[in-house]
Amino acid sequence: MTRSVLRYVKHRITQRPDIEVTFQAECQTCEWKARPSTDGTTVDVECMSHTGRTGRPGLRSTCTSFAMVTRVGIEAVSAR
Ligand SMILES: [Zn+2]
Repeated sequence: MTRSVLRYVKHRITQRPDIEVTFQAECQTCEWKARPSTDGTTVDVECMSHTGRTGRPGLRSTCTSFAMVTRVGIEAVSAR
């Protein structure tokens, strides 16, 4: 007979504070892309300018951040 011991460890996922969020956007009609920036307002303004010049309202916007998972009560988890 085989026995198993189950151990539960709580984890938390957070956004890494040392890496800023990056905003990007691209037109869904043509090849235009906004310059990636850590300032979302700058990207929004570039999108509105593109739409104003071309009349193309559809844009794909992305926001990229980096996550870190830690065990609750422990600062960092080392790879094993
Ligand atoms: Zn376009």
